[in-house]
Amino acid sequence: MSATPSPVVHVVFNASYFDGRSARAHPVRIWLADGQLHVQGDGIALSLPQHTVDWPERTRHGMRVAHFAQGGMVQSENSAAWDAWAKDCGLNESLVVKMQQNWRWVAASVALLVSLMLAVQQWGLPLAAQALVALTPPAVEAALGETSLSAVDRVIMKPSVLPLDKQTQIRTAFAQTVAHQAPSSVRPWQLVFRKSGIGPNALALPGGTIIMTDEMVNLVDGDTAVLSAVLAHELGHVQQRHGLRMLVQATVLGTLSAVVLGDFSSVLAMLPVMLGQAHYSRQAEQEADAHAVKLLKAASLSPALMVTLFDKLQARRAADTSQGKPASNDQASWLGIAFSSHPQDAERIAYFRAEAL
Ligand SMILES: [Zn+2]
Repeated sequence: MSATPSPVVHVVFNASYFDGRSARAHPVRIWLADGQLHVQGDGIALSLPQHTVDWPERTRHGMRVAHFAQGGMVQSENSAAWDAWAKDCGLNESLVVKMQQNWRWVAASVALLVSLMLAVQQWGLPLAAQALVALTPPAVEAALGETSLSAVDRVIMKPSVLPLDKQTQIRTAFAQTVAHQAPSSVRPWQLVFRKSGIGPNALALPGGTIIMTDEMVNLVDGDTAVLSAVLAHELGHVQQRHGLRMLVQATVLGTLSAVVLGDFSSVLAMLPVMLGQAHYSRQAEQEADAHAVKLLKAASLSPALMVTLFDKLQARRAADTSQGKPASNDQASWLGIAFSSHPQDAERIAYFRAEAL
């Protein structure tokens, strides 16, 4: 009698795999077994511990994307089929449970919460936020940055379709611009590219990650000097830890109410919305602009590059409006780089013009 292996049935799902380095989609079969997510396709055979996978939320419609801690992701546009598969596999955990399994998130959340409550009680809201930013250890800021990036990715971003050599060219040009500063005076930064649902934009997340959208690159025809100016502005936000400050300020009330109500998921759900819609204060923008001017001048680049950027943004808005599309800034504010109100744009353009003289 021949020994037959005991039948083990794994529910297999057809998805697309991205390796995190190229924009190419690979068709793969995925299934869960023994606490691992298995990904198999042509030349692809991965097994990842299930708890290291950033599973998509189930409550929203649209694309399902599961990010891997080591880089890369699998996704499916068929959200109903994905959800059915996830349910069959027992991936029923709530977002809160999922987040609680991530110790960094727990550490960051607890640290933030306790500090928030003490600080708000002692100093009131605006001062509390400022004090908290100063108190926040880099590791906590980095964890918040990672969470922000995956939240933004789930809601308003898709993988970049820019050629990798173009991405490298932009990154290198900006690194050369920054190289004129004393290395010890520059906070760590990293540049990632995404195709966006919010048009031409760049944003600085807590922890130093700067997102530049493909649409921003296309808006200026890939001009690395103009893009370096944009990034110099974003690095200003990184230097001043504006991302963290905004996160703290905007979530402070929500977080406190969550503590009272005991419902953390509402705060987590709010995060991407906030990052997509909030914008920095006028003072924060002025600080970032001043930083950009300093960086550009040190690298013998003209602050007028920012004027070029504003011209192109305004031309694009005008074109959108004349085509009957709502102005992009009505759908989502120009978080990273431009204000939604035009008079302030004018003020900033005048500033860069004057600095260019
Ligand atoms: Zn800005």
